[in-house]
Amino acid sequence: MKYFKMEEFECRCCGKVRFTENIEALVENVLDPAREKLGMAISVNSGFRCPRHNAAVGGEPQSQHMVGEAADISPLKSGSKLEQLVTVIVEQGKYDQVILYPTFVHVSWKKNGTNRRQILKKSGNGYQRLSKG
Ligand SMILES: [Zn+2]
Repeated sequence: MKYFKMEEFECRCCGKVRFTENIEALVENVLDPAREKLGMAISVNSGFRCPRHNAAVGGEPQSQHMVGEAADISPLKSGSKLEQLVTVIVEQGKYDQVILYPTFVHVSWKKNGTNRRQILKKSGNGYQRLSKG
């Protein structure tokens, strides 16, 4: 946890943060290295979500946000390319899923279990696969 604070991952509706060991693993394996290489601050738009908040924002029922394995992030500097952030994460090589959305990047990391190494792009109602994964 070099560049991020646990408070940034608190649920946006209730301020709770759970599964902090998973969040720490996400930061140490994915977010801190990405921040270092990108050379600019990264904002956490959504970190941990309680089940109620996850439902409220239309998250998937089994969303990794509910177990601290996922974050939606974007470079803090406006005008920065999200594609660049995706590239940096992929080049680091440690990720479970990286999903490029129009206004943010969803990234996940499994502390326990197999990381799928999927790169996807949100497209209409579905996802377009950018990697073999
Ligand atoms: Zn909540």
